[in-house]
Amino acid sequence: MHGIDWPAVARSVERHLQILIGFDTTNPPGNELACVQYIADVLAEAGYDPIVLESAPQRGNVVARFKGTGEKPPLLIYGHVDVVTAEADKWRHPPFAADLDEGCVWGRGALDMKDMVAYEIQCMELLARENPSLKRDVIFAATADEEVGGKLGAGWLVENHKDLILAEYGLSEGAGSTLQVAGKRFYGVRTAEKGSSRFALRAVGQPGHGSIPKRETSVHVLARAVEALYEHRLPLHLTQTTIRYATTLAEAVGLDVSSGLTEAVLDDIASRLPSDLARSLQAVVRNTAVPTGLRAGTKINVIPSEAEAWVDARIVPGETPESLFREVRAVIGDGCQITPIDEGLPQESEAGDALYQLIERVVQRHDPGSEVVPVMLSGATDARWVSRMGTKCLGFSPLALPQDFSTEGLVHGHDERVPSAGLAWGAQVFYEIVREFAAL
Ligand SMILES: [Zn+2]
Repeated sequence: MHGIDWPAVARSVERHLQILIGFDTTNPPGNELACVQYIADVLAEAGYDPIVLESAPQRGNVVARFKGTGEKPPLLIYGHVDVVTAEADKWRHPPFAADLDEGCVWGRGALDMKDMVAYEIQCMELLARENPSLKRDVIFAATADEEVGGKLGAGWLVENHKDLILAEYGLSEGAGSTLQVAGKRFYGVRTAEKGSSRFALRAVGQPGHGSIPKRETSVHVLARAVEALYEHRLPLHLTQTTIRYATTLAEAVGLDVSSGLTEAVLDDIASRLPSDLARSLQAVVRNTAVPTGLRAGTKINVIPSEAEAWVDARIVPGETPESLFREVRAVIGDGCQITPIDEGLPQESEAGDALYQLIERVVQRHDPGSEVVPVMLSGATDARWVSRMGTKCLGFSPLALPQDFSTEGLVHGHDERVPSAGLAWGAQVFYEIVREFAAL
């Protein structure tokens, strides 16, 4: 790897990212085809035979493969090119202009996740150029549609073109930026993500005239259930990922947790963390149920016979919609019906296996004194689809952030941007991980 001109790689990865941001892939409608066509052109130029697959009109996905000896099964590196909407008038730089300012590349997707897709493109170019002998094929897939569930992207590929992307390991987004805790630097590796189990709460009651007050109307019963969900936390469910995560954070803030991770201990840890980390810690150690929609009544003078709430509930690996509903029932009582709306399976990979260990080694090389820690996402990524192939899914999009730079509020928010220096660091770390792991 000594032959690689890393400053040139840094400029190249920044350029790739700028071009990717320039494609408006706001989903809906997505329109990822032009973007993945660009990626296919770059890969073809590097010597690959990329395959562009349209899951629906203008919804593009692209797959390419660097051939190894086949001694070991493939490694899949993948990422979505669609982005969420941007309120352009609230940004300091236009969201699709990819301006360079304050040492950052600005634009929608700069952190989620065109930055990592740029690493992946760069990685494939470097593999083609260096042409190392690898035991595993390295498969790259850039996909559509992740931001609204991935059915036309990773889900569609898994369903219709599994042969093209089948791999033992899958590496993608979800963690990897520097976390500063108590003066120490950490890099998260996503080893788990929660599933979803969305449901409706429905209360029924006697209708009546709005001029005559009474209790136990559908609105009242529903309101009490909604209030109860805010008042009570669901029970703790720790997994190997959250145990290691919470224990690592506890050590960083100087707490002794040898007596176990109880509610009180977790509260103590959380109270010493920055607020965003504290909230996300509390979200991943239990099932959660957050009311996000309310509906009742059509006329102001009529007490309605029905009232309904939507609840966005997320479940920890090992839990099921049924176990969640039992916990919710214990909190809200019997007043409302629970009707499932949809569900997505949680998943967890072993923290500490070969790929995880390699990530640790490469990170140590490039940021001595930092620590790698397994993390669980409270939300879902395309790993929900990729893991269905039996693929072990990890998330690591390496990004070194300066101490005074926080990504809080930038992902899916205004002024999304990524420091160019962090990107240069990440591109090298990512390439070394892929190359070394595929050669192991
Ligand atoms: Zn994403």
